[in-house]
Parts: sequence; structure tokens; C-alpha cells
Amino acid sequence: MEERFKLSKEEKEELKEKLRELAYNLWWTWNPPAKKLFKMIDEIIWKESKENPLAFLKNEDAIEKALENKKFVNTLNFTYSQFKKYLERITNYTVLFKDKNVIFFSAEYGLHQSLLIYAGGLGFLSGDILKESSDIGLPMIGIGFMYPQGYVRQKIREDGWQEDIFLNNSKDVMPAKKFQDEKGNWFKISIDYSQDEKIYCGIWKVEVGKTTLFLLDTNIEENSPWNRDISSRLYVSDKELKLKQQFVLGFGGIALLKSLGKKIGILHINEDYPVFALLAQAVEFVKSGMPLKEALDAVGQISLFTTHTPLQTAVNIYPFYMVEEHLYFLKDLGIDIKKILELGVNPQNPSEGFNTTVMGMKIAKNINAVSKKHLETTKRIWKPLFDEFKKEEKKIDYVTNGVHIPSWLCAFIRKLLDKYLTPSWADLVDDERIWSLIDDIPDDELWYAHMENKEKMINHIIDRAKDSWLKDKTHPTVLVAEGIFLEPDILTICFARRMTGYKRPTLIFSDPQRLKKILTNPSRPVQIIFAGKAHPADLEGKKAIQTIFSFAKNPDFEGRIAFIEDYDEELAHYLVRGADVWLNNPLPPLEASGTSGMKAGINGVLNLSVSDGWWPEGYNGKNGWIFGEENPDAPREEIDKKHAEEIYNIIENEIVPLYYERDERGIPVRWVKKMKESIKSILPKFSSRRMLKEYTEKFYINMLKVDSQKED
Ligand SMILES: *Cc1c(COP(=O)(O)O)cnc(C)c1O
Repeated sequence: MEERFKLSKEEKEELKEKLRELAYNLWWTWNPPAKKLFKMIDEIIWKESKENPLAFLKNEDAIEKALENKKFVNTLNFTYSQFKKYLERITNYTVLFKDKNVIFFSAEYGLHQSLLIYAGGLGFLSGDILKESSDIGLPMIGIGFMYPQGYVRQKIREDGWQEDIFLNNSKDVMPAKKFQDEKGNWFKISIDYSQDEKIYCGIWKVEVGKTTLFLLDTNIEENSPWNRDISSRLYVSDKELKLKQQFVLGFGGIALLKSLGKKIGILHINEDYPVFALLAQAVEFVKSGMPLKEALDAVGQISLFTTHTPLQTAVNIYPFYMVEEHLYFLKDLGIDIKKILELGVNPQNPSEGFNTTVMGMKIAKNINAVSKKHLETTKRIWKPLFDEFKKEEKKIDYVTNGVHIPSWLCAFIRKLLDKYLTPSWADLVDDERIWSLIDDIPDDELWYAHMENKEKMINHIIDRAKDSWLKDKTHPTVLVAEGIFLEPDILTICFARRMTGYKRPTLIFSDPQRLKKILTNPSRPVQIIFAGKAHPADLEGKKAIQTIFSFAKNPDFEGRIAFIEDYDEELAHYLVRGADVWLNNPLPPLEASGTSGMKAGINGVLNLSVSDGWWPEGYNGKNGWIFGEENPDAPREEIDKKHAEEIYNIIENEIVPLYYERDERGIPVRWVKKMKESIKSILPKFSSRRMLKEYTEKFYINMLKVDSQKED
């Protein structure tokens, strides 16, 4: 029997306030007891809202009822005290950074599915960096955009074509609040733009544990109608609009910091989208009397530019006149705009236009790539530019990406770690010594934990298909493609990523007959799950989805191929835990790092990956499989053919036999050994803990020594 009891009105209000505070801070997303707390209020609402606690705040009845439950009230009080303790924690990082903030700029953040301001990997990296900085007490402030429409949602038509759907995000159930000034009004900033124009931004505040993320929103009435939609969506195709976004993110971010009176210790620019922040900060220095050259130099010293794109054609380039038009207002400050335009000139192709990656790398005195291999690629593709840098002091290095372990590790493995390592393993994440204890986990316990994840994944996929059957009257053949025939006992390979050419989503279909034989083998079958969106303008990506879909619908493949619609954070959580094998086959050297394979690896899902991005650092001969190690200068078709051949060989000769080799209990003991190897080799090394430590040691520490308070 649940104990029922009555509280006074004041007591209830106090508890509701605690609940509101917890719901608005994303800390709950990576702390299981907090998650459980919300689930306790009402499991059905919890599920239907896609695990969004703000859905409860509108549902007074559910909360009133929960507050009559003593166990709930106790859990709430306990969770809240844990939360408060967490917020007040002082760490070495807090001491080291003192009052200097790392200002982190990014166009997207992947924090939770209720806050759709991300497209993919770059966003999750930014989100994980904010979460980790909170965990270790590193003072960081994030700056980004509030996109009323977020990123495209995906609906697959019966013929396999991706329809792009843009829905308005419902801001009242987003974990973001209008940031208020002292008088309780919505905090807004303005920036100079072009000639005698101003652009205004309303500011949203998102709490990520101890870290604050500010989001700029141009959809406010102070703006001219033509400027209101600047922040409407992520990654627009229209050049003019895109440049305006870049401009507003950079200048808006710096204007915000200034009006908040925040001291800038370090400017960390994540990819080229926010690079105008560097210019904006230099302009601030010019306003305080510094010549432009010195101002740029001063900004450069406190700036780190992280590049993610190993492809020159994928960066943002604008006609010079377009950039000049935005910057007319600088003339009033006596700044020679030509000097600014020169910052965007790529020496390899000076007339191509204004290159925002080049500007970032020219201004920042610290540059990093996101894996060891990516650093080599970066040095090669930007060689003429980097040759120019030899005359000045620049630090160019790499920091391999990592993932936020508490966010991406499944509950079952967490419990096993509590039991067989130490309950405080989360504090020791990057301490490689404790991870050998993984070997103490009994094989059957790890295997059953994995099988539970797999069943959860397949149930979730079938639930989605059921929903689409009920809501959209989806054609039955499409339901097959959506995965209704998936089975937990079958070896399951997953390919989930952005559907775009270089990721080669259809590579495994190079020899359909051979694939068919692998998938439909009666005694040792294999199934493949695909998921991923194509950018609305990426026709090649959309065609790839259509190809996969047509194979998935083809009865010859016996329902062993599925394509799951609308890949998002929620689906990613199921897939990176529930698959047996995580397939990654981009065309080298185009994957700068990749992070989904890390999320899989820490959960004991084995990577089958081309030798690119993070994997050459992650692979140790025992924790998965690698192919494509030597990459000759051959034509694309030849490379594709060779890689496909290698994938088939590994699946046929190694993966399938190993997976189906069972002991008398039905446990694939040698497979489980590889799972353990995967967890212990990948978890500490590719954690965001290790990543932020490395950012601090390789870059931040030295940058902190620079006297950045010149504006005083
Ligand atoms: C981790 C993640 C990504 C990034 O995956 P890559 O390895 O870079 O392809 C993309 N989308 C979602 C939803 C993710 O969780």
C-alpha cells in the first residue's frame, strides 16, 4: 500500500517549486534518480511526452496526486538536495579558472529531444561539452540560437522519398526560459548591422547543470519583418540568410556578454558558424581605443577555433560584396573593411569569396582538429594557409572528441559498474585503472543486460510502426520497411547517421545477392537497421534513403532490413545500446571524428568501422573490427568496391560465426569478451571527461595566462 498523507498548501507550493526547478535544469537528463522521480508522477504522460518533465507542469492534477504519495515526496526532497549539492560543488577546475569563463559558441546543441536545436554530431558534441563542463566544475557559458522551427523532421513517403517537415517547436514545453532583466522584462540585446540598421535578439536561458546556455531569438517584434526569421531554422540553404545567421550569432553573442558584464577568459569557437564572434570582440577592443591589428591579435590570443570539416568544399563561402554590406557600420569606427575582407581570403583560391573557416583560423591563435587523423588531413588540405601561419605563433593540435558518459551509458551497464567496479565510477571515468575490473562482470549478466537493451530497442521500433499504422494509415509494406519483422535473437547491425554522400549509406548494397545470402541465412540470420535524415537540399542523400527503403520493402530480403524514420536523440539512445554491431563506412578521410561509434562502444556494441576519424585511435585489435586501412589513390568506385568486399568478408567470416557461437547456457562467451574489451578500452578514453581535460591541458591553461581583461 502506498502511504497517503496530507500537506499544507505552503508545503505543497514549496515542493512544486522544487519540482519546477528540477524540470527546468537538464541535470535530470543524466541523473537516473531524477528521471525516475518524473516517471513516478505518471508513467503514461511521461512516455507520451517523450520524457519531457515540463509536460507535468501543465498537468496540475497529476502533480497534486503525486504529492499525496509519501514515497514520491521523499524522493523529491532527496533528489533536490542532491541537485543542490551538485550545484555547489567546488572543483580543481573552479579554482583554476577563477572568474574567467570559457565562452563556448556553437550553431547547434544536442541536449535533449525536447529542445530541438540540433541537426547531428556537431550538436551532440556541443551538448556533451556543456554537460561535462558542469560535471567537472569548469566555468563555461554556451551561446547559440533558439530556432523556433529547429531542424527538419523526416517523414518517408510510400515510395521511399523523404518529406521535409518543419513544425514550430512548442516553446512552452521546452526546457528554456525567457531570460529576464532586474525589472522582470524579457532581456533583449541589439546589434549594429549594415548601414543604420539594428537587429534585436530576445535571450533564452537553458540550464545545463551548473552551466548556462544562452540562446538568441530574432523572432521578436522589435525587428523589421525581414529580420524576424533569421533564427527560424537550423542550416538554411539561402546564402544571404545563412550569412545573416552567422553574423547575428557572433555579434549577438558578444553583445550579450557585454551587456551581462561577463568576463571573457577564453573564446572557444566550435566550427565556422560563430566566427564573427572573434571579429565582434575585436571591434569591442577597437572601441576602447586599440588599433585594429592589435585588437585582432589580442582576440586571437584568447581564442580557440575547433575545425570539424575535412573537406574544403563543405565550408561556408560568401561573395565579398555580401560580407561587406553587413559590415558597413564598421566604417563609422574608422575600420577599413578591406582589412576585414582579407581575413576571409583563402590563399589557395583567393577569388573564391569570403571563407568563414579561413577567417576563424586566421584570427584564432589556437586551432584544433578533432582526431589524430583529422589533424593530418587538416594540415594537408589547408597547407598554403598553414604555411602563412609559420611566421606567427600559432598552436595547432588535436583533441579527439568524446561523449558524455552519464548521458549515453545505459542503465543496465551502469548498475553492473556500480556492483563490480565501484559506486563512484562516475567520478573516476577517465581513470583507466579501474576499468580492468570490467572483467569481473559475469558473462551472463552482461549478456542479459545487452539482450534487454536489444529487446527494448526492437519494441520501441515496433511501437513506432504501430503508431504510424494507427495515425497515418501507413501501407502494410511500409510497415515492413519500418521494422515490424525485427527479432531480438537475430544478429543486428545498425547504421544510423546523417544520410549524405560521403557516409556511403548504401555501400552495403554494392552486391545485393551476397547481402541477401548473409541476411536470409536460415540458421544464422542477420538484420540491419538504418536511420538518418538527409539535409533538405541534399538530393543524393534523399536518393540513398529511397534505395535503402526499396530494399527494405523487397520480400526477397524477408523483412531483415528496416529504415526507422526521424532519427533523433531519443532513437539514438535506443540504437547505440540495442544493436550488436555498429557499422560505420564513410569515405576516408572525410569523417573528422564521429561520435556515434563511441556511444555504441561504451555500451558494449561492437564497432565495425572503416579506418577513419576516431577509430584508428580506438581500435586495439580486440574491441571490434577495422577495414580500409590502406587507402590507395584509386577511383571512387574501386575504393567502394574494395571496402564493400571487406565488410562482407568480416561479417561472413568473423562476425556471424562469433555471434552464433554459444555455450551450454546460450551465452556467446567470446563475443561477450569483445564487449568487455570494447567498454573498457573506449569508455575512459573517449569520454568527454578526457576530452575536456585535454582541452584544458593543451589549450585553455595557456590561454588563461593571457591578460584578457584589456578592455578594462
Ligand atoms: C551521436 C549522434 C550523431 C553523430 O553521429 P556520427 O558518428 O557523427 O555520425 C548524430 N545524430 C544523433 C542523433 C546522435 O546521437
